[in-house]
Amino acid sequence: MVVFRSKIPDIEIPPIGIFQYVFSNPNNISENKAIFIDYKTDKRLTFAGLKSDSKKFAAGLQDKLNFKRGDVLSILSPNQIDYATVIFGTLVAGGIVSPSNPMSTVKDYTIQLKDSGASVIIVHPLFLSVAINAAKEANIPESKIFLFGDEKINKILPYNSLFGEREAIPIEYTPEEVKTTTAYLCYSSGTTGIPKGVESTHHNMVANVMQILSIEKDAHPEIVYVGVLPFYHIYGLSVLMHFIIVLGASCVVIPKFDFETFCRIIQDYKVGIAHIVPPIILALVKHPKVKEYDFSSLKLVISGAAALSKELSESFYNVHKIKIKQGYGLTETSPVNHLCFTENIVPGSCGILLPNIECKLIDENGQEVGYNTPGELCIRGPNVMKGYLNNKEATDAVFDEDGYFHTGDIALVDENEYFYIVDRVKELIKYKGFQVAPAELEAILISHPSISDAAVIGIYSEEDVTEYPVAYVVTKQQSQHTIEFSGEIRKFVDSQVAPHKKLRGGVIFVDQIPKSASGKILRRKLREIHSTNIQLL
Ligand code: AMP
Repeated sequence: MVVFRSKIPDIEIPPIGIFQYVFSNPNNISENKAIFIDYKTDKRLTFAGLKSDSKKFAAGLQDKLNFKRGDVLSILSPNQIDYATVIFGTLVAGGIVSPSNPMSTVKDYTIQLKDSGASVIIVHPLFLSVAINAAKEANIPESKIFLFGDEKINKILPYNSLFGEREAIPIEYTPEEVKTTTAYLCYSSGTTGIPKGVESTHHNMVANVMQILSIEKDAHPEIVYVGVLPFYHIYGLSVLMHFIIVLGASCVVIPKFDFETFCRIIQDYKVGIAHIVPPIILALVKHPKVKEYDFSSLKLVISGAAALSKELSESFYNVHKIKIKQGYGLTETSPVNHLCFTENIVPGSCGILLPNIECKLIDENGQEVGYNTPGELCIRGPNVMKGYLNNKEATDAVFDEDGYFHTGDIALVDENEYFYIVDRVKELIKYKGFQVAPAELEAILISHPSISDAAVIGIYSEEDVTEYPVAYVVTKQQSQHTIEFSGEIRKFVDSQVAPHKKLRGGVIFVDQIPKSASGKILRRKLREIHSTNIQLL
Protein backbone atom coordinates (compact mmCIF):
# COMPACT_ATOMS: atom_id res chain seq x y z
CA MET A 1 0.00 0.00 0.00
CA VAL A 2 1.38 3.47 -0.90
CA VAL A 3 0.75 5.59 2.15
CA PHE A 4 2.06 9.11 2.69
CA ARG A 5 2.81 10.13 6.24
CA SER A 6 3.54 13.52 7.67
CA LYS A 7 7.24 14.39 7.80
CA ILE A 8 6.60 16.03 11.14
CA PRO A 9 6.88 13.69 14.11
CA ASP A 10 3.58 12.68 15.69
CA ILE A 11 2.36 14.81 18.55
CA GLU A 12 0.58 13.65 21.67
CA ILE A 13 -2.98 14.84 21.86
CA PRO A 14 -4.29 15.15 25.40
CA PRO A 15 -7.58 13.31 25.98
CA ILE A 16 -9.53 16.37 27.16
CA GLY A 17 -12.58 18.30 26.04
CA ILE A 18 -12.24 21.24 23.68
CA PHE A 19 -13.28 23.76 26.36
CA GLN A 20 -10.63 22.50 28.77
CA TYR A 21 -8.01 22.60 26.02
CA VAL A 22 -8.91 26.00 24.62
CA PHE A 23 -8.75 27.64 28.05
CA SER A 24 -5.60 25.80 29.21
CA ASN A 25 -3.58 29.00 28.61
CA PRO A 26 -0.30 27.32 27.62
CA ASN A 27 1.33 30.70 26.90
CA ASN A 28 0.45 32.10 30.32
CA ILE A 29 -1.19 35.20 28.94
CA SER A 30 -2.75 37.70 31.31
CA GLU A 31 -6.36 36.83 32.10
CA ASN A 32 -7.21 40.43 31.17
CA LYS A 33 -5.91 40.07 27.64
CA ALA A 34 -8.51 41.13 25.06
CA ILE A 35 -9.11 38.10 22.86
CA PHE A 36 -12.04 39.26 20.75
CA ILE A 37 -12.39 42.91 19.72
CA ASP A 38 -15.44 44.34 17.98
CA TYR A 39 -14.35 46.04 14.75
CA LYS A 40 -16.87 48.85 15.13
CA THR A 41 -17.22 49.67 18.82
CA ASP A 42 -13.79 48.41 19.95
CA LYS A 43 -15.65 46.51 22.70
CA ARG A 44 -13.30 43.85 24.06
CA LEU A 45 -13.89 40.38 25.42
CA THR A 46 -11.04 39.30 27.65
CA PHE A 47 -9.81 35.77 28.27
CA ALA A 48 -11.20 35.85 31.83
CA GLY A 49 -14.43 37.57 30.73
CA LEU A 50 -15.08 35.02 28.01
CA LYS A 51 -14.41 32.11 30.35
CA SER A 52 -16.63 33.52 33.07
CA ASP A 53 -19.48 34.54 30.71
CA SER A 54 -19.37 31.09 29.11
CA LYS A 55 -19.80 29.44 32.50
CA LYS A 56 -22.63 31.81 33.45
CA PHE A 57 -24.34 31.15 30.15
CA ALA A 58 -23.92 27.40 30.71
CA ALA A 59 -25.48 27.74 34.16
CA GLY A 60 -28.44 29.55 32.63
CA LEU A 61 -28.88 26.87 29.99
CA GLN A 62 -28.85 24.19 32.67
CA ASP A 63 -30.95 25.92 35.33
CA LYS A 64 -33.46 27.82 33.21
CA LEU A 65 -33.82 25.64 30.12
CA ASN A 66 -32.98 22.23 31.54
CA PHE A 67 -30.29 21.93 28.87
CA LYS A 68 -28.42 18.66 29.34
CA ARG A 69 -25.30 16.92 28.13
CA GLY A 70 -25.73 15.99 24.46
CA ASP A 71 -28.40 18.65 23.80
CA VAL A 72 -27.94 20.76 20.69
CA LEU A 73 -27.87 24.56 20.52
CA SER A 74 -28.16 26.27 17.16
CA ILE A 75 -26.55 29.63 16.33
CA LEU A 76 -27.78 31.79 13.45
CA SER A 77 -25.56 34.84 13.29
CA PRO A 78 -22.79 36.62 11.47
CA ASN A 79 -19.49 37.01 13.33
CA GLN A 80 -19.56 39.06 16.51
CA ILE A 81 -17.59 38.92 19.71
CA ASP A 82 -20.33 37.27 21.79
CA TYR A 83 -20.44 34.32 19.39
CA ALA A 84 -17.60 32.78 21.43
CA THR A 85 -19.56 33.04 24.69
CA VAL A 86 -22.45 31.07 23.24
CA ILE A 87 -20.14 28.45 21.78
CA PHE A 88 -18.12 27.88 24.93
CA GLY A 89 -21.16 28.17 27.20
CA THR A 90 -22.80 25.36 25.27
CA LEU A 91 -19.63 23.27 25.54
CA VAL A 92 -19.31 23.94 29.28
CA ALA A 93 -22.84 22.55 29.67
CA GLY A 94 -21.84 19.45 27.70
CA GLY A 95 -23.89 20.49 24.69
CA ILE A 96 -23.29 20.35 20.95
CA VAL A 97 -23.03 23.55 18.92
CA SER A 98 -24.69 23.63 15.53
CA PRO A 99 -23.77 26.89 13.77
CA SER A 100 -25.64 27.91 10.62
CA ASN A 101 -25.00 30.34 7.82
CA PRO A 102 -26.94 33.50 8.77
CA MET A 103 -27.98 33.90 5.14
CA SER A 104 -29.89 30.61 5.27
CA THR A 105 -33.42 30.67 3.96
CA VAL A 106 -36.23 29.52 6.24
CA LYS A 107 -36.22 26.24 4.32
CA ASP A 108 -32.45 25.68 4.76
CA TYR A 109 -32.58 26.57 8.41
CA THR A 110 -35.63 24.41 9.09
CA ILE A 111 -33.84 21.42 7.58
CA GLN A 112 -30.80 22.03 9.79
CA LEU A 113 -32.86 22.55 12.94
CA LYS A 114 -34.80 19.35 12.35
CA ASP A 115 -31.76 17.34 11.37
CA SER A 116 -29.57 18.51 14.25
CA GLY A 117 -32.38 18.12 16.79
CA ALA A 118 -31.56 21.58 18.20
CA SER A 119 -33.59 22.59 21.24
CA VAL A 120 -32.29 26.15 21.75
CA ILE A 121 -31.61 28.90 19.19
CA ILE A 122 -29.42 31.98 19.63
CA VAL A 123 -29.97 34.39 16.77
CA HIS A 124 -28.77 37.80 15.63
CA PRO A 125 -31.69 40.28 15.65
CA LEU A 126 -31.43 40.76 11.87
CA PHE A 127 -32.26 37.10 11.29
CA LEU A 128 -34.94 36.73 13.92
CA SER A 129 -37.82 36.24 11.50
CA VAL A 130 -35.99 33.37 9.77
CA ALA A 131 -35.36 31.79 13.17
CA ILE A 132 -38.97 32.20 14.31
CA ASN A 133 -40.41 30.75 11.10
CA ALA A 134 -37.98 27.84 10.99
CA ALA A 135 -38.41 27.13 14.71
CA LYS A 136 -42.17 26.89 14.16
CA GLU A 137 -41.61 24.28 11.46
CA ALA A 138 -39.18 22.39 13.67
CA ASN A 139 -41.48 22.53 16.72
CA ILE A 140 -39.08 24.60 18.81
CA PRO A 141 -41.09 26.94 21.07
CA GLU A 142 -40.40 30.68 20.84
CA SER A 143 -39.42 30.63 24.51
CA LYS A 144 -36.28 28.72 23.44
CA ILE A 145 -35.17 31.45 21.01
CA PHE A 146 -32.79 34.12 22.35
CA LEU A 147 -31.14 37.13 20.78
CA PHE A 148 -27.57 38.28 20.56
CA GLY A 149 -27.19 41.80 21.97
CA ASP A 150 -28.87 43.39 24.96
CA GLU A 151 -32.28 44.21 23.50
CA LYS A 152 -35.54 42.31 23.79
CA ILE A 153 -37.72 42.11 20.65
CA ASN A 154 -41.39 41.43 21.40
CA LYS A 155 -41.30 38.35 23.62
CA ILE A 156 -37.82 37.21 22.54
CA LEU A 157 -35.23 37.87 25.25
CA PRO A 158 -31.53 38.60 24.89
CA TYR A 159 -29.26 35.59 25.41
CA ASN A 160 -27.58 37.20 28.40
CA SER A 161 -30.92 37.16 30.24
CA LEU A 162 -30.07 33.49 30.65
CA PHE A 163 -26.85 34.20 32.55
CA GLY A 164 -27.03 32.48 35.91
CA GLU A 165 -25.77 33.83 39.23
CA ARG A 166 -23.45 30.87 39.46
CA GLU A 167 -20.75 29.71 37.06
CA ALA A 168 -21.31 26.18 35.77
CA ILE A 169 -18.57 23.61 36.18
CA PRO A 170 -17.40 22.48 32.74
CA ILE A 171 -18.44 18.93 31.94
CA GLU A 172 -15.42 16.61 31.93
CA TYR A 173 -15.08 13.63 29.65
CA THR A 174 -13.22 10.37 30.02
CA PRO A 175 -10.49 9.72 27.42
CA GLU A 176 -12.89 7.40 25.61
CA GLU A 177 -15.74 9.94 25.69
CA VAL A 178 -13.48 12.67 24.30
CA LYS A 179 -13.16 10.56 21.14
CA THR A 180 -16.84 9.75 20.79
CA THR A 181 -18.58 12.90 22.03
CA THR A 182 -19.66 15.37 19.39
CA ALA A 183 -18.77 19.01 20.04
CA TYR A 184 -19.90 20.58 16.75
CA LEU A 185 -22.36 19.91 14.00
CA CYS A 186 -21.40 21.98 10.99
CA TYR A 187 -23.20 21.22 7.75
CA SER A 188 -21.50 19.98 4.61
CA SER A 189 -22.86 18.32 1.51
CA GLY A 190 -19.82 16.03 1.44
CA THR A 191 -19.32 14.13 -1.77
CA THR A 192 -22.96 14.02 -2.83
CA GLY A 193 -26.51 15.09 -2.01
CA ILE A 194 -27.76 17.71 0.40
CA PRO A 195 -25.97 19.14 3.46
CA LYS A 196 -25.39 16.70 6.30
CA GLY A 197 -24.46 17.28 9.93
CA VAL A 198 -20.75 16.62 10.36
CA GLU A 199 -20.07 15.19 13.81
CA SER A 200 -16.79 16.74 14.95
CA THR A 201 -15.74 15.32 18.30
CA HIS A 202 -13.85 17.04 21.11
CA HIS A 203 -10.81 14.98 20.16
CA ASN A 204 -11.07 16.05 16.49
CA MET A 205 -11.11 19.70 17.45
CA VAL A 206 -8.29 19.53 20.02
CA ALA A 207 -6.20 17.49 17.59
CA ASN A 208 -6.55 19.92 14.74
CA VAL A 209 -5.53 23.00 16.74
CA MET A 210 -2.47 21.11 17.99
CA GLN A 211 -1.67 19.86 14.51
CA ILE A 212 -1.83 23.40 13.12
CA LEU A 213 0.24 24.78 16.00
CA SER A 214 2.97 22.25 15.36
CA ILE A 215 3.62 23.74 11.92
CA GLU A 216 2.52 27.33 12.43
CA LYS A 217 5.66 28.75 13.98
CA ASP A 218 4.69 32.34 13.18
CA ALA A 219 1.80 32.26 15.59
CA HIS A 220 2.39 33.86 19.01
CA PRO A 221 0.30 35.73 21.58
CA GLU A 222 1.33 39.21 20.42
CA ILE A 223 -0.16 38.72 16.96
CA VAL A 224 -3.43 40.38 16.03
CA TYR A 225 -5.63 38.37 13.69
CA VAL A 226 -8.56 39.55 11.61
CA GLY A 227 -11.80 37.63 12.17
CA VAL A 228 -13.45 37.83 8.77
CA LEU A 229 -13.94 34.14 8.03
CA PRO A 230 -17.38 33.09 9.19
CA PHE A 231 -17.47 31.50 12.62
CA TYR A 232 -20.26 29.19 11.48
CA HIS A 233 -17.81 27.47 9.15
CA ILE A 234 -15.29 25.03 10.60
CA TYR A 235 -12.36 27.06 9.22
CA GLY A 236 -13.45 30.13 11.21
CA LEU A 237 -14.37 28.04 14.25
CA SER A 238 -11.10 26.20 14.48
CA VAL A 239 -8.63 28.82 13.34
CA LEU A 240 -10.22 32.05 14.49
CA MET A 241 -11.79 30.80 17.67
CA HIS A 242 -10.03 27.78 19.17
CA PHE A 243 -6.59 28.57 17.82
CA ILE A 244 -6.61 32.22 18.87
CA ILE A 245 -7.79 31.54 22.41
CA VAL A 246 -5.24 28.75 22.96
CA LEU A 247 -2.54 31.01 21.64
CA GLY A 248 -3.75 33.92 23.72
CA ALA A 249 -3.67 36.21 20.68
CA SER A 250 -6.31 38.81 19.70
CA CYS A 251 -8.86 38.75 16.92
CA VAL A 252 -10.65 41.79 15.52
CA VAL A 253 -14.07 40.47 14.60
CA ILE A 254 -15.78 41.62 11.38
CA PRO A 255 -19.33 40.44 10.60
CA LYS A 256 -19.00 40.51 6.82
CA PHE A 257 -16.26 41.13 4.29
CA ASP A 258 -16.20 44.67 3.02
CA PHE A 259 -13.01 45.70 1.26
CA GLU A 260 -12.40 49.07 2.87
CA THR A 261 -13.37 47.94 6.37
CA PHE A 262 -11.07 44.95 6.02
CA CYS A 263 -8.13 47.12 4.93
CA ARG A 264 -8.78 49.70 7.64
CA ILE A 265 -8.83 47.00 10.32
CA ILE A 266 -5.49 45.61 9.12
CA GLN A 267 -3.99 49.09 9.21
CA ASP A 268 -5.52 50.42 12.46
CA TYR A 269 -5.23 47.27 14.57
CA LYS A 270 -1.85 46.34 13.08
CA VAL A 271 -3.04 42.90 12.05
CA GLY A 272 -0.10 40.49 11.73
CA ILE A 273 -1.67 37.36 10.21
CA ALA A 274 -4.78 37.18 8.04
CA HIS A 275 -6.61 33.94 7.32
CA ILE A 276 -8.58 34.61 4.17
CA VAL A 277 -9.96 33.06 0.98
CA PRO A 278 -8.87 33.50 -2.66
CA PRO A 279 -11.53 36.09 -3.68
CA ILE A 280 -10.30 38.40 -0.88
CA ILE A 281 -6.72 37.87 -2.05
CA LEU A 282 -7.81 38.82 -5.56
CA ALA A 283 -9.38 42.02 -4.21
CA LEU A 284 -6.14 42.81 -2.37
CA VAL A 285 -4.27 42.49 -5.67
CA LYS A 286 -6.70 44.32 -7.93
CA HIS A 287 -8.66 46.87 -5.91
CA PRO A 288 -7.58 50.42 -6.84
CA LYS A 289 -7.86 51.63 -3.23
CA VAL A 290 -5.49 49.02 -1.84
CA LYS A 291 -2.56 51.45 -2.09
CA GLU A 292 -4.29 53.87 0.30
CA TYR A 293 -3.76 51.54 3.28
CA ASP A 294 -0.71 50.73 5.34
CA PHE A 295 -0.20 46.97 5.48
CA SER A 296 3.25 47.12 7.04
CA SER A 297 2.10 45.12 10.10
CA LEU A 298 0.86 42.23 7.97
CA LYS A 299 3.53 39.54 7.88
CA LEU A 300 1.60 36.54 6.62
CA VAL A 301 -1.54 35.68 4.69
CA ILE A 302 -2.95 32.17 4.86
CA SER A 303 -5.45 31.07 2.24
CA GLY A 304 -7.86 28.18 2.58
CA ALA A 305 -11.36 26.90 1.74
CA ALA A 306 -10.72 26.95 -2.02
CA ALA A 307 -7.89 26.70 -4.52
CA LEU A 308 -5.29 29.47 -4.57
CA SER A 309 -3.41 29.41 -7.85
CA LYS A 310 0.33 29.84 -8.16
CA GLU A 311 -0.30 32.92 -10.34
CA LEU A 312 -2.55 34.66 -7.81
CA SER A 313 -0.25 33.94 -4.93
CA GLU A 314 2.73 35.30 -6.90
CA SER A 315 0.77 38.41 -7.93
CA PHE A 316 -0.15 39.01 -4.30
CA TYR A 317 3.48 38.68 -3.22
CA ASN A 318 4.66 40.99 -6.02
CA VAL A 319 2.17 43.71 -5.05
CA HIS A 320 2.53 43.55 -1.27
CA LYS A 321 5.80 41.75 -0.53
CA ILE A 322 3.88 39.86 2.16
CA LYS A 323 4.30 36.11 2.50
CA ILE A 324 1.31 34.11 1.38
CA LYS A 325 0.76 30.41 1.87
CA GLN A 326 -2.02 27.92 1.52
CA GLY A 327 -3.74 25.25 3.56
CA TYR A 328 -6.21 22.57 2.60
CA GLY A 329 -9.02 21.04 4.54
CA LEU A 330 -12.66 20.14 4.81
CA THR A 331 -15.44 20.37 7.35
CA GLU A 332 -15.12 16.59 7.70
CA THR A 333 -11.46 16.86 8.77
CA SER A 334 -11.97 19.59 11.41
CA PRO A 335 -10.69 21.14 9.02
CA VAL A 336 -6.94 21.38 8.18
CA ASN A 337 -4.94 18.48 6.69
CA HIS A 338 -2.19 20.30 4.82
CA LEU A 339 -0.34 23.54 5.37
CA CYS A 340 2.91 25.09 4.11
CA PHE A 341 5.78 25.97 6.40
CA THR A 342 6.25 29.74 6.14
CA GLU A 343 9.97 29.29 5.57
CA ASN A 344 9.29 26.96 2.66
CA ILE A 345 6.30 28.21 0.72
CA VAL A 346 5.66 26.54 -2.62
CA PRO A 347 3.20 28.68 -4.60
CA GLY A 348 0.27 26.62 -5.91
CA SER A 349 0.80 23.88 -3.33
CA CYS A 350 -1.53 23.44 -0.37
CA GLY A 351 1.42 22.28 1.73
CA ILE A 352 2.61 19.20 3.51
CA LEU A 353 0.63 16.82 5.67
CA LEU A 354 0.09 17.89 9.28
CA PRO A 355 1.41 15.50 11.94
CA ASN A 356 -0.55 12.38 12.93
CA ILE A 357 -2.14 12.28 9.46
CA GLU A 358 -1.59 9.65 6.82
CA CYS A 359 -3.08 9.65 3.39
CA LYS A 360 -3.26 7.74 0.17
CA LEU A 361 -4.15 8.79 -3.36
CA ILE A 362 -6.30 6.41 -5.38
CA ASP A 363 -6.98 6.40 -9.09
CA GLU A 364 -10.30 5.70 -10.85
CA ASN A 365 -9.80 1.95 -10.43
CA GLY A 366 -9.27 2.24 -6.70
CA GLN A 367 -5.50 1.64 -7.07
CA GLU A 368 -3.08 3.63 -4.95
CA VAL A 369 -0.76 5.89 -6.89
CA GLY A 370 2.64 7.30 -5.99
CA TYR A 371 4.43 10.60 -6.56
CA ASN A 372 3.34 13.02 -9.29
CA THR A 373 0.24 11.05 -10.28
CA PRO A 374 -3.21 12.45 -9.54
CA GLY A 375 -5.56 10.45 -7.36
CA GLU A 376 -8.41 10.93 -4.92
CA LEU A 377 -7.07 12.09 -1.59
CA CYS A 378 -8.02 9.78 1.27
CA ILE A 379 -7.18 10.80 4.83
CA ARG A 380 -6.79 9.03 8.13
CA GLY A 381 -6.02 10.86 11.36
CA PRO A 382 -7.33 12.15 14.68
CA ASN A 383 -8.96 15.14 12.99
CA VAL A 384 -11.28 13.05 10.80
CA MET A 385 -14.94 13.33 11.80
CA LYS A 386 -16.91 10.66 13.58
CA GLY A 387 -19.45 10.58 10.75
CA TYR A 388 -22.56 12.27 9.42
CA LEU A 389 -25.30 12.64 12.01
CA ASN A 390 -27.97 9.95 11.77
CA ASN A 391 -26.79 9.04 8.30
CA LYS A 392 -25.00 5.72 8.29
CA GLU A 393 -25.35 5.34 4.55
CA ALA A 394 -23.59 8.64 3.79
CA THR A 395 -20.95 7.89 6.44
CA ASP A 396 -20.26 4.42 5.08
CA ALA A 397 -19.97 5.86 1.58
CA VAL A 398 -17.02 8.09 2.52
CA PHE A 399 -15.01 5.72 4.74
CA ASP A 400 -13.28 2.65 3.35
CA GLU A 401 -12.56 -0.59 5.20
CA ASP A 402 -9.16 0.74 6.33
CA GLY A 403 -10.76 3.76 7.95
CA TYR A 404 -9.64 6.28 5.33
CA PHE A 405 -11.96 9.18 4.66
CA HIS A 406 -12.41 9.80 0.92
CA THR A 407 -12.33 13.55 0.36
CA GLY A 408 -13.67 13.73 -3.20
CA ASP A 409 -10.70 15.95 -4.09
CA ILE A 410 -8.02 14.96 -6.59
CA ALA A 411 -4.49 15.70 -5.48
CA LEU A 412 -0.96 14.95 -6.45
CA VAL A 413 2.17 14.95 -4.37
CA ASP A 414 5.73 15.73 -5.44
CA GLU A 415 8.94 14.13 -4.20
CA ASN A 416 9.27 16.81 -1.53
CA GLU A 417 5.91 15.67 -0.16
CA TYR A 418 4.22 18.90 -1.19
CA PHE A 419 0.59 18.37 -2.18
CA TYR A 420 -1.41 20.05 -4.93
CA ILE A 421 -5.20 19.93 -5.26
CA VAL A 422 -5.80 19.55 -8.99
CA ASP A 423 -9.47 18.61 -9.38
CA ARG A 424 -12.60 17.53 -7.58
CA VAL A 425 -14.63 14.39 -8.21
CA LYS A 426 -17.42 15.17 -5.79
CA GLU A 427 -20.46 17.20 -6.72
CA LEU A 428 -19.67 20.13 -4.44
CA ILE A 429 -19.42 23.65 -5.87
CA LYS A 430 -17.59 26.32 -3.92
CA TYR A 431 -18.67 29.90 -4.47
CA LYS A 432 -16.15 32.20 -2.75
CA GLY A 433 -15.41 29.46 -0.22
CA PHE A 434 -19.13 28.84 0.52
CA GLN A 435 -20.57 25.42 -0.23
CA VAL A 436 -23.23 25.05 -2.88
CA ALA A 437 -24.75 21.58 -3.19
CA PRO A 438 -25.89 20.87 -6.79
CA ALA A 439 -28.53 18.46 -5.47
CA GLU A 440 -30.33 21.34 -3.76
CA LEU A 441 -30.45 23.47 -6.90
CA GLU A 442 -31.44 20.48 -9.06
CA ALA A 443 -34.38 19.73 -6.76
CA ILE A 444 -35.61 23.30 -7.15
CA LEU A 445 -35.12 23.25 -10.92
CA ILE A 446 -37.12 20.09 -11.48
CA SER A 447 -39.94 21.42 -9.32
CA HIS A 448 -40.53 23.98 -12.11
CA PRO A 449 -43.54 22.83 -14.16
CA SER A 450 -41.78 23.33 -17.51
CA ILE A 451 -38.53 21.53 -16.62
CA SER A 452 -38.25 17.78 -17.06
CA ASP A 453 -34.63 17.28 -15.99
CA ALA A 454 -31.69 19.31 -14.75
CA ALA A 455 -28.10 19.10 -13.60
CA VAL A 456 -25.95 21.74 -11.95
CA ILE A 457 -22.17 21.91 -12.20
CA GLY A 458 -19.57 24.39 -11.01
CA ILE A 459 -17.55 26.31 -13.54
CA TYR A 460 -14.37 28.02 -12.47
CA SER A 461 -13.89 31.65 -13.41
CA GLU A 462 -10.19 32.53 -13.68
CA GLU A 463 -11.12 36.18 -13.62
CA ASP A 464 -13.03 36.05 -10.34
CA VAL A 465 -11.09 33.08 -8.87
CA THR A 466 -14.24 31.28 -7.86
CA GLU A 467 -16.73 28.75 -9.14
CA TYR A 468 -20.19 29.60 -10.41
CA PRO A 469 -23.13 27.19 -10.48
CA VAL A 470 -24.35 26.60 -14.05
CA ALA A 471 -27.65 24.81 -14.68
CA TYR A 472 -28.10 22.39 -17.57
CA VAL A 473 -31.82 22.16 -18.18
CA VAL A 474 -34.13 19.94 -20.24
CA THR A 475 -37.47 21.61 -20.89
CA LYS A 476 -40.74 19.91 -21.67
CA GLN A 477 -41.00 21.88 -24.94
CA GLN A 478 -38.12 22.87 -27.21
CA SER A 479 -39.80 26.20 -27.94
CA GLN A 480 -38.88 27.24 -24.42
CA HIS A 481 -35.19 27.54 -25.23
CA THR A 482 -35.21 31.32 -25.08
CA ILE A 483 -33.33 34.06 -23.28
CA GLU A 484 -36.57 35.06 -21.56
CA PHE A 485 -37.17 31.58 -20.21
CA SER A 486 -33.60 31.25 -19.02
CA GLY A 487 -34.10 34.51 -17.10
CA GLU A 488 -37.32 33.12 -15.65
CA ILE A 489 -35.51 29.96 -14.49
CA ARG A 490 -32.77 31.98 -12.83
CA LYS A 491 -35.33 34.10 -11.03
CA PHE A 492 -37.26 30.98 -10.04
CA VAL A 493 -34.15 29.44 -8.45
CA ASP A 494 -32.55 32.60 -7.07
CA SER A 495 -35.71 33.63 -5.25
CA GLN A 496 -35.68 30.38 -3.27
CA VAL A 497 -32.04 30.13 -2.21
CA ALA A 498 -29.49 31.86 0.01
CA PRO A 499 -27.44 34.49 -1.87
CA HIS A 500 -24.31 32.34 -2.32
CA LYS A 501 -26.33 29.60 -4.06
CA LYS A 502 -27.71 31.79 -6.86
CA LEU A 503 -27.34 30.49 -10.41
CA ARG A 504 -24.63 33.03 -11.23
CA GLY A 505 -23.22 30.81 -13.97
CA GLY A 506 -26.44 30.91 -16.01
CA VAL A 507 -28.71 28.38 -17.66
CA ILE A 508 -27.94 26.15 -20.65
CA PHE A 509 -30.69 24.26 -22.45
CA VAL A 510 -29.93 20.73 -23.61
CA ASP A 511 -31.97 17.86 -25.03
CA GLN A 512 -30.84 15.48 -22.37
CA ILE A 513 -28.61 15.27 -19.31
CA PRO A 514 -25.73 12.81 -19.76
CA LYS A 515 -26.20 9.96 -17.29
CA SER A 516 -24.59 6.65 -16.46
CA ALA A 517 -26.43 3.34 -16.89
CA SER A 518 -27.48 3.58 -13.24
CA GLY A 519 -28.93 7.05 -13.81
CA LYS A 520 -26.11 9.04 -12.18
CA ILE A 521 -25.48 12.46 -13.70
CA LEU A 522 -22.16 12.45 -15.56
CA ARG A 523 -20.90 15.75 -14.23
CA ARG A 524 -17.43 15.37 -15.66
CA LYS A 525 -18.97 14.94 -19.10
CA LEU A 526 -21.01 18.09 -18.57
CA ARG A 527 -17.88 19.97 -17.57
CA GLU A 528 -16.18 18.77 -20.75
CA ILE A 529 -19.17 19.83 -22.82
CA HIS A 530 -19.09 23.17 -21.07
CA SER A 531 -15.46 23.81 -21.82
CA THR A 532 -15.76 23.01 -25.53
CA ASN A 533 -19.10 24.40 -26.42
CA ILE A 534 -21.52 26.65 -24.71
CA GLN A 535 -23.83 29.26 -25.54
CA LEU A 536 -25.02 30.74 -22.32
CA LEU A 537 -28.52 32.05 -22.18
P1 AMP B 1 -15.61 22.86 3.29
O1 AMP B 1 -16.07 21.59 3.89
O2 AMP B 1 -16.69 23.87 3.13
O3 AMP B 1 -14.43 23.40 4.03
O4 AMP B 1 -15.13 22.54 1.82
C1 AMP B 1 -14.07 21.65 1.61
C2 AMP B 1 -13.69 21.64 0.16
O5 AMP B 1 -13.15 22.90 -0.24
C3 AMP B 1 -12.60 20.65 -0.14
O6 AMP B 1 -13.09 19.33 -0.26
C4 AMP B 1 -12.04 21.19 -1.43
O7 AMP B 1 -12.82 20.80 -2.54
C5 AMP B 1 -12.15 22.70 -1.23
N1 AMP B 1 -10.86 23.22 -0.74
C6 AMP B 1 -10.52 23.55 0.52
N2 AMP B 1 -9.24 24.00 0.56
C7 AMP B 1 -8.76 23.93 -0.69
C8 AMP B 1 -7.50 24.23 -1.31
N3 AMP B 1 -6.48 24.74 -0.64
N4 AMP B 1 -7.39 24.01 -2.64
C9 AMP B 1 -8.40 23.52 -3.36
N5 AMP B 1 -9.62 23.22 -2.84
C10 AMP B 1 -9.80 23.42 -1.53
